[in-house]
Amino acid sequence: MEYGCPLCNGIAGVNERCSSCGQLMRDAGMVEDYYGPYSPYDNMDRYEPPLFWELADRMPCVHLFSCSKCGYDKRVGIQRAFF
Ligand SMILES: [Zn+2]
Ligand SMILES: [Zn+2]
Repeated sequence: MEYGCPLCNGIAGVNERCSSCGQLMRDAGMVEDYYGPYSPYDNMDRYEPPLFWELADRMPCVHLFSCSKCGYDKRVGIQRAFF
């Protein structure tokens, strides 16, 4: 049994439709290195490293979904799970 993001591990596919045109979106990859204003890691630097990693592991794996038809994209948090 493994624990991780089902999308990163190829277990699950994208099942999200573009909210603009209805096209099935594609996974443009995870955005782990994204530290913008909406980053879930924003308030994490005050934690001690062991706690940080424990929390980071429980947070969803954020993927960028993009629409190949109209160019719409959005970030989706994928919950890590055992599989
Ligand atoms: Zn992932
Ligand atoms: Zn679209």
